[in-house]
Amino acid sequence: MTNSLPEIAKIWQQTLNWQPNDAQQARFQQLYELILEGNRQLNLTRITEPQEFWEKHLWDSLRGIAPQQKFISSLEAGASVIDIGTGAGFPGVPVAIVAPSSKVTLVDSTRKKITFIDKILSELSLNNATTVVARAEEIGQQQQHREKHDIALIRAVGNASVCAEYTLPLIKPGGLAVIYRGTWTEEETIALQNAVQQLGGEIESIEQFVTPLSNSIRHCLYLRKIATTPAKFPRVVGVPTQKPL
Ligand code: SAH
Repeated sequence: MTNSLPEIAKIWQQTLNWQPNDAQQARFQQLYELILEGNRQLNLTRITEPQEFWEKHLWDSLRGIAPQQKFISSLEAGASVIDIGTGAGFPGVPVAIVAPSSKVTLVDSTRKKITFIDKILSELSLNNATTVVARAEEIGQQQQHREKHDIALIRAVGNASVCAEYTLPLIKPGGLAVIYRGTWTEEETIALQNAVQQLGGEIESIEQFVTPLSNSIRHCLYLRKIATTPAKFPRVVGVPTQKPL
């Protein structure tokens, strides 16, 4: 069994117009090994093959912050990024690795997962990332997080309007929420519009792309915050999923 991640510089270059440097590549490999090890005790991910890990965890995480194949420019300038429902650290940990001047907050409601991520951050010496055990509905109402972040990321946490309610309250007006999806349809865009509007946002763009190894379809939704989110959002724990906007 080989446990080396592929080093596919050419694909990084073609798809994201970027390549990891040696230190970043080494951290990707370390992250992969730590997750394989952590998986023996915790149910972190079913994605363990090197190529699949590279594509579905590393590449996919970074594709989301590279609309039009360009990394969101504010990431370079010390942006505050929050990842809601980060699980084993996706997309937030790869983002922290590639954007060392950004400040990344990794949030999950499961303490075990956050304990695991704390270990990753310390072994990778990722000083630009911190963790919080909390539900999105709670930190969205906390003063130190509400409307304090430039970018909010969310992948595989719930339906799109739930993701919008979890993320938009956390970002500053002018900031961006990135919702990572598999499939997406025009009807879903229409349904999402009303929720996003109530939360003070607008759908800025939706990108469809194909993953570079297995040719799977993915979408990223980019929501721009254009107004302050009304105080009643996010609603109390459980309500966003029970009664999606
Ligand atoms: N984003 C990761 C993990 C997705 S699994 C990835 O794409 O690989 C969903 C994660 O969201 C779980 O770890 C779960 O604990 C967390 N979660 C679900 N609802 C949440 C909420 N309301 N607030 C914070 N975390 C939540």
